[in-house]
Amino acid sequence: MEDTSEKTAAARLRELKAELSDLARHNARASGDIELIAVSKTHGADAIRPVLEAGHRVFGENRVQEAAKKWPALRQAYPDTQLHLIGALQSNKADQAVDLFDTIHSLDRPKLAAALARAMAASGRRPRLFVQVNTGDEPQKAGVSVMDLADFVEQCRTEYKLQIDGLMCLPPAHEAAGPHFALLGKLAASLDMAHLSMGMSADYAEAVSLGATHIRLGTAIFGPRG
Ligand SMILES: *Cc1c(COP(=O)(O)O)cnc(C)c1O
Repeated sequence: MEDTSEKTAAARLRELKAELSDLARHNARASGDIELIAVSKTHGADAIRPVLEAGHRVFGENRVQEAAKKWPALRQAYPDTQLHLIGALQSNKADQAVDLFDTIHSLDRPKLAAALARAMAASGRRPRLFVQVNTGDEPQKAGVSVMDLADFVEQCRTEYKLQIDGLMCLPPAHEAAGPHFALLGKLAASLDMAHLSMGMSADYAEAVSLGATHIRLGTAIFGPRG
């Protein structure tokens, strides 16, 4: 990758969007079908504002508390902002998450499904939901195991009346990501889901070639996290 340290986040984002539209064309995809989520975790409002000013409106955060501190004020200035929760969610924060986020990528267990269903009924808001899959079966990692996925999705749909929009994965750090992306695509197709949240700064090109509809980019836009 070229040295981007001198560039602003807004400039990096502009280049990424141009690259993405090339990538989409090469893969016979419509670039409008690939959502670029700017992952602003750990970055303060001062770093985020220029990216909003440049016209970007889709952001990701991994912690409810951090997002609750930063985003209400930014959102007042940019009301059409879409916020994605990409990190683990505790069920006791489901109400707050449903209030704050437009899409939640980390649904991975029945207790959380129940809490989200209750929070949605109480608030009338219905964020889009992705089920996170632990494609590498890593014991320390969040996500439903591949083996339990079909039953869990069925339970979300029938018992909790939740609409599931897609699947999300975070491949093991020291493995090639491609096989995990391909597996996630197969699983989504078998469950009749149209959306795939996969691909980060190091591997988004491969994710797009394997059908990603939502890529989550932090470092490639904002630079290294402190
Ligand atoms: C931090 C994070 C990202 C962004 O990672 P980069 O490598 O900085 O692009 C994407 N997805 C999840 C779930 C994350 O926690």
